[in-house]
Amino acid sequence: MIIVMEPKATKEEIDVVKNNLEKKGFKIVLNHGDVMTVIAAIGDKRLVDPASIASFEGVRSVKLIQEPYKLASREGKEEDTVIEFPNGVKIGGLERPVMMVGPCSVEKDFNGLLRVAVAAREMGCQFLRGGAFKPRTSPYEFQGLEEKALEYLAIAREKTGLLVVTEVMDTADVPMVEDYADVVQIGARNMQNFKLLKAVGKCGKPVLLKRGGAASIREFLLAAEHIMCNGNEKVILCERGIKSFDSTFTRNTLDLAAIPIIKKYSHLPIIADPSHGTGRRYLIEPMAKAALVAGANGLMIEVHHDPENASSDGAQSLSIPQFKDMQKRINKLIGRIDYDNQQLKD
Ligand code: PEP
Ligand code: MN
Repeated sequence: MIIVMEPKATKEEIDVVKNNLEKKGFKIVLNHGDVMTVIAAIGDKRLVDPASIASFEGVRSVKLIQEPYKLASREGKEEDTVIEFPNGVKIGGLERPVMMVGPCSVEKDFNGLLRVAVAAREMGCQFLRGGAFKPRTSPYEFQGLEEKALEYLAIAREKTGLLVVTEVMDTADVPMVEDYADVVQIGARNMQNFKLLKAVGKCGKPVLLKRGGAASIREFLLAAEHIMCNGNEKVILCERGIKSFDSTFTRNTLDLAAIPIIKKYSHLPIIADPSHGTGRRYLIEPMAKAALVAGANGLMIEVHHDPENASSDGAQSLSIPQFKDMQKRINKLIGRIDYDNQQLKD
């Protein structure tokens, strides 16, 4: 249930509504907007009469949300969520799509990372990505440099001004990763690690939530809900491909339809990751362009200074010259997208 308070509602009036619903066992999430306060009450709606809540002083309207993902749902919040960073970068709504680029893993060669970051900056990208804690299918593969990698990312940020996005895999590491990163990433394999979702829900940084390889869109949005109902409403969704029957030509199947579907049912920003979505370098550019035209608020792309010798995911990483070449065309395309009408300008 969403309770919209009048712009001039007092703190006491808000507290009366909040306390009344809390007594009935509802979990309350308060959203103090610029103009008005919105109270999200999550619980058994049979225990309360919406008309009675609507009659409280200072209440403008009461709305029942049918979807199970109450806070992530467009039913509860019509306007797009736009996440703004201290340096002015914004993600979501009709803002220009953002680019998150960098190697799959942060490796020992700091200069390699820096070269990628400098190229990303030069091409107008906003974020540097790179794994410090790596979720690897095999325990014998490179597992990540952990805190050393976080330090490298922080130095690269200092030198380029790019924001840093990096994955956290364990609740115990959330404080450390949150300290270094501008965006904390939850990887596909942890999309339903509920303790981890709760931990990042309590952290102070925006969260990039990647879709699980076998997760439905409903499960994806409910995973976002876990983060949001723990207090962190700054969630960026990422479509990164799902398992399908044919993995002959691609690693995963990038579900492009998920982008407009999520935009219809949720107000959260959604980006696409055509590197993990396809697993093939040559498919990155066509899928990146398709995702942008489908309405993606950004892209995550793996770029490595020496893809042939990368510690992970070299086959789905662009080299620096390949990235620059592609990015010129992507920037041009971004300039031509008419988001209001979901098409290219003439
Ligand atoms: C990553 O982005 O580094 C990653 C491991 O991706 P995913 O969780 O989508 O597999
Ligand atoms: Mn990777």
